[in-house]
Amino acid sequence: MIEKRNFYINGQWVAPSQPNDHPVIDPSTEEPCAVISLGGQADTDAAVAAAKAALPGWMATPVEERIALVEKLIDVYKSRGEDLAQAMTSEMGAPIDMARTQQVGAGIGHLKNFVRAAKAFQFDRPLGDHAPNDRIIYEAVGVAALITPWNWPMNQVTLKVGAAAIAGCTMVLKPSEESPLNAMVFAEMIDEAGFPAGVFNLVNGDGVGVGNQLTGHPDVDMVSFTGSTRAGIAISKNAADTLKKVHLELGGKGANVIFADADDKAVKRGVLHMMNNTGQSCNAPSRMLVQSEIYDQAVEIAAETANKLTVGNAHEEGRHIGPVVNKTQWDKIQGLIEKGIAEGARLVAGGPGLPEQFNKGFYVRPTVFADVTPDMTIAREEIFGPVLSIMKFDSEEDAIAIANDTEYGLTNYVQTQDGARANRMARVLRSGMVEMNGQSRGAGSPFGGMKKSGNGREGGVFGLEDFLEVKAVSGWTPE
Ligand code: NAD
Repeated sequence: MIEKRNFYINGQWVAPSQPNDHPVIDPSTEEPCAVISLGGQADTDAAVAAAKAALPGWMATPVEERIALVEKLIDVYKSRGEDLAQAMTSEMGAPIDMARTQQVGAGIGHLKNFVRAAKAFQFDRPLGDHAPNDRIIYEAVGVAALITPWNWPMNQVTLKVGAAAIAGCTMVLKPSEESPLNAMVFAEMIDEAGFPAGVFNLVNGDGVGVGNQLTGHPDVDMVSFTGSTRAGIAISKNAADTLKKVHLELGGKGANVIFADADDKAVKRGVLHMMNNTGQSCNAPSRMLVQSEIYDQAVEIAAETANKLTVGNAHEEGRHIGPVVNKTQWDKIQGLIEKGIAEGARLVAGGPGLPEQFNKGFYVRPTVFADVTPDMTIAREEIFGPVLSIMKFDSEEDAIAIANDTEYGLTNYVQTQDGARANRMARVLRSGMVEMNGQSRGAGSPFGGMKKSGNGREGGVFGLEDFLEVKAVSGWTPE
């Protein structure tokens, strides 16, 4: 059993102020794989104090040096990739091959994108030719609290730490208590890369403890949060009294609009995308909207694709999907599958209960519902498991109305070979991202949502700007 009870504060691994053990459960086996500590107010205060003390020095460090440290971090990251992958497999159930490629790979990509964006970014620049003595200076927001979820853990940690570090912010990271191990490996990497003490601090804890303490802390200047809409609302309220900047990346209920003229891989691609990471992605295309002409055929392909997926232990190599993260999520997903059946959706693949080869582990059968209508619970709520809802539409107008009829607005997807229609759809879909015909977004493209999916934009130059204040100076003497 791994024992990792300490926190990383001011460049040292330190014991918690009060012992408060917390087991980390391996979802493949339901057995504890590690023990960590949950922090309390004194730990939060120590980490925030370290970040506050390090802030002036880090802000004054030339941006080229901050970028160089992130480049060093990328090298260390590559050398610790296997440790990160093993940690994520054990704590959140990402199948090991997928953890090595997608989960670990995402972090390297984000750090590289920040370096590239920062090298091209003018942190200090004239307002314009019309005002030669006006200067615009971008400077760090200050001490940032970074609160991350368990589903794409290293993806989220790097999106926040990479941007904050280059921007000149100092920070306290509170990873999810479900997936703290990868973040602790990351803290070791920060140490090895040689970041100055206090720039990066890590305190483990839960939402009601360290989470709340950070988001209400008078010495924290901003919160960058990724997680549920429920927690995003609680954090916004808690941060209001101290008027912190709050950047939120929250849940989603993406529509994947498949027109009759879509390419013949569109349905299969949509199902596989939905099931990736066992359906635990905020941008999952969880509502498949299919035009009536191809609806029956699409349902058949979707069911066949889901039935062919294998579910397996995350520690085994291969292309299977793993368990979901914990018992709470398993129960929630089972409840929603039951609700789908009770409300009259047609189950065409999967269904309730464990897949037949398992009697323990938080495994879910890849499930597809057809004939889902917009009022059904499974069309409205984020399920966060391998469950796809297929809905029928007739016209482009219907598709737009159904797709936008959601509280969320993170990613929508369009499949059509009519370019003009695809572009029209991209303009009217109310979401922070629209991906067409299976083409993923380019390096450094902003990730974020509208409505109850939040307000932040992470990645590349957009992610950097989230951690920067804009200062306007007049009467500047040209240097
Ligand atoms: P969660 O909201 O339960 O927890 C996320 C993090 O917030 C954890 O570290 C948790 O300890 C902390 N937290 C919980 N309540 C808090 C509070 N009141 N104050 C401060 N911190 C609090 O979410 P989760 O179950 O870990 O993650 C799944 C959710 O995250 C899904 O809704 C998913 O869509 C969303 N998500 C969004 C994005 C995005 O970029 N939009 C990316 C990944 C996940």
